[in-house]
Amino acid sequence: MDAVVKPWRKATLSDDLKAAPQVVRPSREEAEAAVRTLIAYTGDDPLREGLIETPKRVVDAYEELYRGYRECPAEVLDRTFNEIGTYDDFVLVRDIAFNSQCEHHMMPFMGKAHIAYKPVDRVVGLSKLARLVDVYGRRLQTQEHMTSQIATAIEEVLNPRGVAVMIEAEHMCMSLRGVEKLGSSTITTQFVGSFRDDPAEQARFMTLVRGG
Ligand SMILES: [Zn+2]
Repeated sequence: MDAVVKPWRKATLSDDLKAAPQVVRPSREEAEAAVRTLIAYTGDDPLREGLIETPKRVVDAYEELYRGYRECPAEVLDRTFNEIGTYDDFVLVRDIAFNSQCEHHMMPFMGKAHIAYKPVDRVVGLSKLARLVDVYGRRLQTQEHMTSQIATAIEEVLNPRGVAVMIEAEHMCMSLRGVEKLGSSTITTQFVGSFRDDPAEQARFMTLVRGG
């Protein structure tokens, strides 16, 4: 493939920016059989009419929910534009809706991501930031790891002056089981460069994200 390292990019990208590690993937039939086993474990009959097609549908859903393993975060941010004129403030995309699956329970967590970066010469298409969230969201995740992965990807590929990422999400593993606290939200943040070093810039990000 393309071995040329583009000049604005760091020579070596961290593992988080590459496509996910390849593991030996079971066959589709094996995956469907595993779903039948789980149905039987609930106490129901996987062969009754209403459930007979369920393993197929679950595996179809898995293809969608976990497609991030087959996408490369660095490639998502690959196309950049350098027509930014004299623009020298940060770019913020807020309220990027996402869903992901918690790696401890394989239950959904969903919410919004807010991303800001302060470009140097180059900007990326705004929709690419939303796609980046999806690449990491469509994997087994912790919210903390997802937050830092997004920040690291932007930092390493775009090499901006700073990056700020905030994720707020509700975890179904907390709402529907365990402590059963419906409606609680978890907030994670990661600040890099100017957002970490300049409290005023960080505060402005927080104000804008909070609907200012
Ligand atoms: Zn969980």
